[in-house]
Amino acid sequence: MFNKRDPVSVLMEYGQTREVKISFTDVSRSGPHHASRFHTAAIVDGETHVLAMGTSKKNAKKAAAIMALRTMYDRGMIRLGQANDHVNIEMKAMDAQDPMSHSTKIMQAARRMLEVAEETQFINYSKDKVLAAIVLERRGKYTVAGLGTGNRCIQYQNMAADGSRIIHSHAEVIARRAFKRFALRELCSYTGTEKHPLFTRSRHTGLIKLHDDIKVHLYISRPPCGDAAAFPTITNFPNRMRAIRKQGQLRTIIDDGEGAIPTDFPLPANANGKERLRVMTCSDKILRWNGVGIQGALLSNFMDPIYLNSLVIGSHTGDQRGHVPRAISGRLKCGRLHEVLMKPFRICSPEIVYPPCSDNYAITKSKQYCITWSEGDPDAEVIDAVTGAVAMEPTDNSPASRVSKRALLGLFRTACDNLNARNLVTLTYTEAKQSARAYQRTKRSVEDHLLSCGFGQWLKLQESYGTDNFEEHEKLG
Ligand SMILES: [Zn+2]
Repeated sequence: MFNKRDPVSVLMEYGQTREVKISFTDVSRSGPHHASRFHTAAIVDGETHVLAMGTSKKNAKKAAAIMALRTMYDRGMIRLGQANDHVNIEMKAMDAQDPMSHSTKIMQAARRMLEVAEETQFINYSKDKVLAAIVLERRGKYTVAGLGTGNRCIQYQNMAADGSRIIHSHAEVIARRAFKRFALRELCSYTGTEKHPLFTRSRHTGLIKLHDDIKVHLYISRPPCGDAAAFPTITNFPNRMRAIRKQGQLRTIIDDGEGAIPTDFPLPANANGKERLRVMTCSDKILRWNGVGIQGALLSNFMDPIYLNSLVIGSHTGDQRGHVPRAISGRLKCGRLHEVLMKPFRICSPEIVYPPCSDNYAITKSKQYCITWSEGDPDAEVIDAVTGAVAMEPTDNSPASRVSKRALLGLFRTACDNLNARNLVTLTYTEAKQSARAYQRTKRSVEDHLLSCGFGQWLKLQESYGTDNFEEHEKLG
């Protein structure tokens, strides 16, 4: 819950960051002088949570803090379990008073869900963060399926060859991983019934697909990094011309840099001469999702592609609004890609919507800690984006994140068991990805298309860094 940190300081920090008053009161002392017992209460926001006992005042205070945190965590967990239902009830009531736009509802669902999810984590809380969520909509009901925050990526020296590290902790990437976790887990219990809230069988491909009346929305609190966000207002003429030539370029972010560098530019040297990591930007990733779907390779063994119906962007600055359509789908439409893609794959152009009241854009610092949660998870998980592992004391051997490749592969295997796909259970991660042939073919077509249109080369992380080969070195226990 709060690892090995001192519970009293965790509780004080909780109060400070959430603007809630925290105090302790010594209530009583009992027993003989040489073996006294101290009783201390922690008071959180006016509520006396507990009366804890210790052998010294200090221990009693500590015990009180632990009990208060535990009570709040338990409450948060119960709330989170019902959060999607509650958010819908709340929004209906708000909507009846003052009608909300469709995009505002999606933004509200994402923001409320983050608030509730954060009640189940006590470390490294910060108010302003880049937020993203995959929100499913069916018959007027919104379900946040995957949630993510963050705007950093792993430092090169923390890369590990065991599939446990999260490399790219940007909110939209984390939210999409959380969605994959959600969908895989649903597949682990899918029995093929038509009454399933998400899935049905496609008559065309024989694969599982989402019900036709489910809409899929991606909420992001600001335009994705890279092509959509790289060109704020440029007014002076030579710079403007130079910028126009670079529009549409595939770009990478680097582990400790802010800019988004075109993939065909050499990587600038690090001050210490250390190797640095390049990761494709979120604009480019969303662009690719609009060709191959958001479900990724593992799920594509069982499922038709899942496409976004809309992209809701909470805030923007300068000219970004003008660049978003090109960045996220326009680049797929300029050549003959639409003739190459084979059904059910297609070029998807999600509707791009900006809610009338905007989210917080002004996040200047990069955030080391990010949050992930999938519908069905008991609590939120905090990832240290710099190490790419679950946030803990730096000396700890941190466990793999729930949304890591390794964790998703575990879910994939359970899904294979449930769906009687015995031939897939024994595959390694790389093999399981490769066995989704139509998906891989489509991905190649998209990358070839981008190269032939002059947008540059897609940099493949698994080829440069061997991130997918974790089972070639060791077998999962
Ligand atoms: Zn990004």
